[in-house]
Amino acid sequence: MNEPLGDLEQERSAILQQILRLPDFRSGSITATRGTCGKPTCHCHQPNQPGHGPNYRLTRKVKGKTVTETFANSAELQKAQREVQAYHRFRQLAQELLEINEKICLARPVEQLAGAKKKRRKSSSRKLLAK
Ligand SMILES: [Zn+2]
Repeated sequence: MNEPLGDLEQERSAILQQILRLPDFRSGSITATRGTCGKPTCHCHQPNQPGHGPNYRLTRKVKGKTVTETFANSAELQKAQREVQAYHRFRQLAQELLEINEKICLARPVEQLAGAKKKRRKSSSRKLLAK
């Protein structure tokens, strides 16, 4: 199934428009943890107790190292959840953008590119003559 080049370019524009409309986004994943505190007498140290939490944190890789962020309140957590969700949407759109570009590359006739090359060569030879 070969789609016409014009259709492919329209699809690409539609994907780019969606990327433009994305809200703030950030990479990382949000996980919930439960744990024990420093007080040995606290209920969290009793057997079969769930411990404190859940505490949510965001982890992401920065130059190969895992960076952890915690949230002061549920509003901050929800904001981060939206931002991470938007990042997943961005990744999905970026993949679609790559796929459509690959189709466009295959559909693009060579003549158009050859024409552009000829123009460039002409302007550079003009520069040489001017010297
Ligand atoms: Zn405790």
